[in-house]
Amino acid sequence: MSDFTVVDFFKRFPTDDYCLNHLMEIRFGTSFECPKCKKHSRFTKVQKRPVYQCQWCAHQISPMAGTPFEKSRTPLQKWFYAMYLFTTSRHGVPAKELQRQLGVTYKTAWRMGHEIRKYMTNVDGDNQYGGHVEMDETFMGGRKRNRSPSYKRESPFKGKTIVYGMVERDGKVQTYVIDKRTRKTIKKHVDAKVVAGTVISTDEAPCYQFLEKDGFEHGTVCHEHDEWVNGIHHTNTIEGFWSRLKNSIRGTHIHVSKKYLPNYLGEFEYRYNMRKSPKWMFERLLGAF
Ligand SMILES: [Zn+2]
Repeated sequence: MSDFTVVDFFKRFPTDDYCLNHLMEIRFGTSFECPKCKKHSRFTKVQKRPVYQCQWCAHQISPMAGTPFEKSRTPLQKWFYAMYLFTTSRHGVPAKELQRQLGVTYKTAWRMGHEIRKYMTNVDGDNQYGGHVEMDETFMGGRKRNRSPSYKRESPFKGKTIVYGMVERDGKVQTYVIDKRTRKTIKKHVDAKVVAGTVISTDEAPCYQFLEKDGFEHGTVCHEHDEWVNGIHHTNTIEGFWSRLKNSIRGTHIHVSKKYLPNYLGEFEYRYNMRKSPKWMFERLLGAF
């Protein structure tokens, strides 16, 4: 998947100091105007401490400040390697696997995974959607439908989380956890993200019925009547994303709670959105700090 192999990784980041130096370079550079003495200065690493110091006034800068590494006792190289694993795996990295590969506790591995997912979500950034966009919702998590009589009146969606998503054909995907499938909720996201005049394909759910009135070229397919394609309209792209997402989460993680679901979604969006340039995934993630 990536041209950046494990061997390449350890060649480039053989020690914690190499990682720290990389962090310093991408965050501040090593030669700039000192914020304290205002002279143009070269900052050099202080022995045995993770800080860099001004050549004139000894003012110190920590490249880890404000990053998840700052308060972590896990060495920087392990963090970098964990990020490497996240960007080179196809289905995500379970905490158990991180624990095994890094030699850290399960709790630490679990926390690292969540910090990395947060960054993957942030790097993906704020895109606008245009051209031809597909939208759909899906249900994730919760307990399995129980068919025993005492559960008969229970909704099949009980305990599940609604995820709404939009994908540009041949472009990027963006998902949201939503509380209700209402026009108001969908409209809020459409107004924020979708460029005027965009062609939009959905199913016949009532929550999408404002789109035409709002000036979009809206077409639908009626899945209940076994209609999957209607001219240029179908929702196969977004449905493909849902099924890959669900398979990956099911195969990789034991349980994903509603609280952390947005982070997992962010991770999978990142991977999908970077699919055409997998070798930049790790670089972009490193650049995010
Ligand atoms: Zn200075």
